[in-house]
Amino acid sequence: MSIAQTDVLIVGAGPAGLASAIQLKRQGVTRVTVVDREPEAGGMPRLCHHTGFGVWDFHRLYTGPQYARRYVALARELGVELLTETTITGWRSERALTFTSPGGLGAIEARAILLATGVRERPRAARLIPGYRPRGVFTTGSLQRFVDEEHLPVGKRAVIVGAEGVSLSAFMTLTGAGVAVAAMITEFPRDQLYLPYAPAKWWLMDVRHPTPIRTATRITRILGRKRVEGVEVESLSTGQRQVIPCDTVVFTGDWIPEHEVARKGELAMDAGAKGPRVDGQFRTSAPGVFAAGNLLRGAETAATSAMEGRFAAGHIADFLAGRAWPRRRLPILAQSPIIWAFPNAISVSDDPTRLKRVSFRVEKFIDDAVVQVRQGRKVLHEQRFSHLLPNETMRMKGDWLSRVDFGGDPPQVILTG
Ligand SMILES: Cc1cc2nc3c(=O)[nH]c(=O)nc-3n(C[C@H](O)[C@H](O)[C@H](O)COP(=O)(O)OP(=O)(O)OC[C@H]3O[C@@H](n4cnc5c(N)ncnc54)[C@H](O)[C@@H]3O)c2cc1C
Repeated sequence: MSIAQTDVLIVGAGPAGLASAIQLKRQGVTRVTVVDREPEAGGMPRLCHHTGFGVWDFHRLYTGPQYARRYVALARELGVELLTETTITGWRSERALTFTSPGGLGAIEARAILLATGVRERPRAARLIPGYRPRGVFTTGSLQRFVDEEHLPVGKRAVIVGAEGVSLSAFMTLTGAGVAVAAMITEFPRDQLYLPYAPAKWWLMDVRHPTPIRTATRITRILGRKRVEGVEVESLSTGQRQVIPCDTVVFTGDWIPEHEVARKGELAMDAGAKGPRVDGQFRTSAPGVFAAGNLLRGAETAATSAMEGRFAAGHIADFLAGRAWPRRRLPILAQSPIIWAFPNAISVSDDPTRLKRVSFRVEKFIDDAVVQVRQGRKVLHEQRFSHLLPNETMRMKGDWLSRVDFGGDPPQVILTG
């Protein structure tokens, strides 16, 4: 087995990994290696052939592939080593990862590692929807690969399961490929096409291709043996069932972090976010191992992932320059209906004054909410929210982080009212 050496090994050449690599080079780190299992670097945006990328990080509106190309070009210009078709398979030691590639098996040893492996959508099989396994069932990711990469015909009439940002992406791909969308369905009482998606929703789904969004509705069965012939849906308010004829079903959202590498490294994981636990400096529980981007908790925008990668780079550079790894840290726990809080750990050496905000997500619509952070019986923070929205990152003040007692229980983020 060949063993290569580098200063920073980054797993995942999406916005988080590439933005981090670029920043590390700008900060003078000599050898930065980014590996990705795909034949091309760029991550998820490479497959999203619609606009909506780059506004926050490049101040320009790009399509996904244009955005991915911009990051890849910057990384190459700065001398980042990009290894594609290289899948990380496990850990050889604390800071060495094994890989498989068309050139064979090998390992890469690094002084620091950043995991930025992104997320995937939960496929139909994992959602336990009854029915046969006919052709015509996709996730947004597999649909976009099918249409934009393979240029294959999809169908004529589709149903989209989910009504959030990524569902709109599926809508654009379908209508762009000439497929009519019969309905978008969501189990929530309202759609989650909030700003910045609301104008696109109005233009695409109200004006150009008028399409119903069926709220409080769940899919109970997929009909058809060889090819999808329809979906059976159930109203959650009346219990009434109905068949919507269609030849295509797209399951959107419901993200699962690509956490295999993190799990194999036995990193502490967050039960709600399903990604590795990180503190405010993107440090995991393993010394020298950092994590950033969607891997941490599910899908945010590409710019959020890229910014996280960039911030993580600063902390990685400090670590390479000799900053000690914290010896004590506490997890930050979330209690249902709060799914996760971020950061989901706090270390003794975190500088709480730099963390102005703590973000979190909830699993349902909640009005007039009071969110508390408690450590044991002590209330560290309390904040009122007129609305908490699912599939949307909410933010609370972060000043309570400086009041955490490292000798006490883990802080808990809970809903009280
Ligand atoms: C359909 C869709 C539409 C979207 N539309 C928008 C939009 O309009 N605007 C916007 O801002 N955002 C959009 N997003 C979100 C955006 O794409 C993501 O937020 C962003 O790509 C996350 O970046 P990342 O680097 O964390 O992960 P990713 O981009 O997912 O990159 C992770 C990379 O890690 C690689 N990897 C995983 N495991 C391994 C391994 N073991 N070995 C080697 N490589 C590995 C993967 O191949 C992948 O390339 C969309 C997402 C989807 C799915």
